Amino acid sequence: MVEFKSEASLASMREAGRVVATALAEVERAAAVGVSLLELDRVAHEVLRAAGASSPFLGYRPSFAPVPFPAVICASVNDVVVHGIPDGYRLRDGDLVSIDCGAVLDGWAGDAAVSFTIGTARPEDSELIAATRRALEAGIAAAVVGNRIGDVAHAIGSVAREAGYGLPEGFGGHGIGRRMHEEPDVPNEGRPGRGFPLKPGLVLAIEPMLTAGGKDEHATDPDGWTIRTVDGSRAAHVEHTVAITEAGPRILTLP
Ligand code: MG
Ligand code: MG
Repeated sequence: MVEFKSEASLASMREAGRVVATALAEVERAAAVGVSLLELDRVAHEVLRAAGASSPFLGYRPSFAPVPFPAVICASVNDVVVHGIPDGYRLRDGDLVSIDCGAVLDGWAGDAAVSFTIGTARPEDSELIAATRRALEAGIAAAVVGNRIGDVAHAIGSVAREAGYGLPEGFGGHGIGRRMHEEPDVPNEGRPGRGFPLKPGLVLAIEPMLTAGGKDEHATDPDGWTIRTVDGSRAAHVEHTVAITEAGPRILTLP
């Protein structure tokens, strides 16, 4: 069932989104050569704790997962697309890092992700991240009353395909509210004019993830969580929680 949020609920979701944005900014600030992914997880955890928020990631166990997720961020480095588990890996010069973080505050969830590079960026990584951000912007721009989910999906997919990148099949965004994952699904590729109609109060997590090698297949690590490209090429992932309103799309996960 899809829940449409009142203006008061959107205001609460904005506060949850602000916590997520702060956590991501702090993690990006802390990320440097030699810093471990576990240290980045601690940085985000401290932001959530200080805000009185809980993590919808920590202990999360969807049907596909053999173990509950053990952290408050997903840390996906280089060929990891999404759902990387923070571990003792220490960041190296030129790494491409995607950090995904969620927060639940006063019963409302926020969900966002950023991609960035460590030290000296490879030009092709900067291009991949820029295209992934453009895909997110296009998806957000299409999140207007009167459009449908397919219009958002088509906007994201068009940016990715025109740049020659891949879109891991079966992964995409989602409705969000009291729970992190709600209906409807928001695919990263689709047909315009199709799917669930966008109405005021609908809130979506829009999250393009693009692979540099152009392949749509993915591989799953033995941990059951970590999603990698099949060709070893790098991937980027960015996400915002966005409310559909009469005045246009409202991003709830800005700082
Ligand atoms: Mg997320
Ligand atoms: Mg999400």
